[in-house]
Amino acid sequence: MTALPLVFDAPRRGKPPRHLADLTREEARAVVADLGQPAFRADQLARHFFRGVTDPAQMTDVPAAVRETLSEALLPGLLTPVRTLSADGGRTRKTLWRLHDGALVESVLMRYPDRATVCISSQAGCGMACPFCATGQSGLTRNLSAAEIIGQAVAASAAMANGEVPGGPGRLSNVVFMGMGEPLANYPRVRATLRALLGQAPYGLGLSQRSVTVSTVGLVPGIRKLTEEGMAVTLAVSLHAPDDELRDTLVPINTRWKVAEVVEAADDYAARTGRRYSVEYALIRDVNDQPERADLLGRLLAGKLAHVNLIPLNPTPGSPWDASPLPAQREFVARLRAAGVPTTVRDTRGQDIDGACGQLAAADLGDDAGVPTVATPAPMLEAPVPLGAEADA
Ligand code: SAH
Repeated sequence: MTALPLVFDAPRRGKPPRHLADLTREEARAVVADLGQPAFRADQLARHFFRGVTDPAQMTDVPAAVRETLSEALLPGLLTPVRTLSADGGRTRKTLWRLHDGALVESVLMRYPDRATVCISSQAGCGMACPFCATGQSGLTRNLSAAEIIGQAVAASAAMANGEVPGGPGRLSNVVFMGMGEPLANYPRVRATLRALLGQAPYGLGLSQRSVTVSTVGLVPGIRKLTEEGMAVTLAVSLHAPDDELRDTLVPINTRWKVAEVVEAADDYAARTGRRYSVEYALIRDVNDQPERADLLGRLLAGKLAHVNLIPLNPTPGSPWDASPLPAQREFVARLRAAGVPTTVRDTRGQDIDGACGQLAAADLGDDAGVPTVATPAPMLEAPVPLGAEADA
């Protein structure tokens, strides 16, 4: 497998059109005032946006004569659904979105009995080059704007509220930044997104801090900035190896920030926020799943405010790697637990629609642009969750 270079700076491309979700409340009110309308109309538009209302005709609290003008000025459509794939009887849905410049990103909504989680993308592609990750192998196209990231969560929230997901109308409860991209490499936009996710109506989705998870490859300066924000969201760190020698190859950013530095930054995050962080570890057969590595990971994390979330590898096309067999997974879990480290194994929802962790790699689908097509729900491969509770992700 050829190693890809690490890319930090996203290529500059045309900016998406101005959108309310990229502005502060004051800025949005100023735009409305410039159009000769009372500033409170910005709040009305915000309420419609966060409820997923996109058709100006439905904005009945705004005078009909100005609906089009105001929504063109502040609520341009940024995400066009190209297609939606369903699994698990419709309770897992992956949406491929086309952005204004043709870039493609995906998000995945997963409904569980007790919660609904959307996995969102923060970049088109990714520059972090992890060799086992489909997105990492595609390279970085560009950073998403805040409105493009928030829009994915809003769409999921509206799908739940409108009863589009089997199980009746419900509420989006969780957001995880585990789709395409490295969130901390797009820091200002991700910070603005967090504010919108946690913000109260009309300028937010009103989610709780603990139900929003930022997953990072281990950009230490980004973790430290997030620590200073005072938003106690859940931090997940993609470790995948307890030792630098192996991590250098699995997570190339490790050549810049080592295991000890990443864990120290996560510890400081936990100390500041009081929140347990999660350590993600994709179990790859004969690569990082040896009993000795479980012991090493156990020693690294014992006594820390951390838990380990093991993800059986979802093999990506062309990869020589495979998931660890069940006995190796069980042994790994047992050793971590024996070391006193809380450990769960993530379920692998959406595998059959390439919606599982690390499988998001948007392919251009040709001429069906703009037409959302819902595939016949495929029977979900009920992946066994062999060990303990499933992860909260
Ligand atoms: N850039 C962020 C988000 C990536 S996706 C990060 O690195 O954390 C979320 C998780 O899925 C990460 O832990 C990532 O390493 C993991 N992942 C990527 N590809 C995978 C694969 N093929 N199988 C299992 N997990 C994978």
